[in-house]
Amino acid sequence: MSLLVMKFGGSSVGTPERMQRVARRILERQQEGHQIVVVVSAMGDTTDDLIDQSKQLNPNPPAREMDMLLTTGEQISIALLSMTIHQLGGQAVSYTGWQAGFRTEPVHGKARITDIQADRVIRSLDEGQIVIVAGFQGMSEDGEITTFGRGGSDTTAVALAAAVQADRCEIYTDVDGVYSTDPRVVKCARKLEEISYDEMLELAHLGAAVLHPRAVEYAKHNNVCLVVRSSFTYNEGTEVKEEAVMEQGIVVRGIAFDKNVARISLLGAQDIPGILAKVFGALANNGIDVDIIVQSGVADGKADFSFSVSNNDIAKALRVIEDLRSEVPFREATSEENLVKVSIVGAGMVSHPGVAAKMFETISQLGVSIKMVSTSEIKCSCVIEAGPLNEVVRALHTAYNLDTEEQAFVGGPQDRRE
Ligand code: ASP
Ligand code: MG
Repeated sequence: MSLLVMKFGGSSVGTPERMQRVARRILERQQEGHQIVVVVSAMGDTTDDLIDQSKQLNPNPPAREMDMLLTTGEQISIALLSMTIHQLGGQAVSYTGWQAGFRTEPVHGKARITDIQADRVIRSLDEGQIVIVAGFQGMSEDGEITTFGRGGSDTTAVALAAAVQADRCEIYTDVDGVYSTDPRVVKCARKLEEISYDEMLELAHLGAAVLHPRAVEYAKHNNVCLVVRSSFTYNEGTEVKEEAVMEQGIVVRGIAFDKNVARISLLGAQDIPGILAKVFGALANNGIDVDIIVQSGVADGKADFSFSVSNNDIAKALRVIEDLRSEVPFREATSEENLVKVSIVGAGMVSHPGVAAKMFETISQLGVSIKMVSTSEIKCSCVIEAGPLNEVVRALHTAYNLDTEEQAFVGGPQDRRE
């Protein structure tokens, strides 16, 4: 008998009818002879609605109370799903994250899992129960309720799959699998049969919201057999694995984009040793995530450099830099908002020269200028202005032979963050 973890996102359980569909799907899987652990997210927009409610009463709620509030969303889902399964004649038991043995760091809002004591889950499985676990939550050593950050139910599923040594972890969502790019932007985007952990990790970090990056990290680390598929159809999904086969003639597996990018430039900075360390040290100490860094030449002992941050960090980053002026003298700091980062990802890039060059050429043919570039062995990212983003993504999709004949199936309501 094999052991399966099935995870359903918020839109898959968003209404009573969908809850019933999910319950039937779970029972079908059980009848095929599998033991089943289910992980669910909060129904529909529940988490967003809870956040809105809290903001009306306190725009800056204590992080502890926020976790207390948000974990209720998943608790509603597990109880209702379990009842639905009982109504259909099945045996199920629901557990909160802490009942299922999730121990985490003592951090609110983005806790990491430190340990999973899954004996209770295993015992219930052995009794023939379908075990339903609330996503994205755990408890710290000192008994405080914690959450894993938005989209964290994927991580619950993968971590639990590793802990109970499941044969497979299936992530059910509202799209058919992982696509070469967002099918809403490129109609002829292709569904990928397979993708490697590393490629998926890049895509997830670069803005493809279909899987939470930490879940992919966990899967890679524990070699979890991970499948992304639709809860609305029976189509085969996308398998995420150690090594994925590349189709003939395709080097780039996917194109991702991030619409929340700003550039800050520091001009005429005195080129003394340690200046980068000072600037980026100060930014890090203030919790500002810096992505791409470009130093663009030194003349007459003065250096210019730029870096990218998310739009909402601009004001803070400029303040941090201004505060450093006495230590790191510079002429001026400028910023540019509302940029986007487009990235191509493919494990085959390492061994195929000219992949990045083709990206630059394709973008320049559209008359769009590239403001920043960063590369790794398996990806190349360009920061450009936001206006022509869709056009650029479509052109790249064609240039790298990713277009298919068919129109991509996009099932259910779009909830790319579920
Ligand atoms: N309900 C949480 C969220 O909306 C966790 C999840 O869905 O994965 O972010
Ligand atoms: Mg999700």
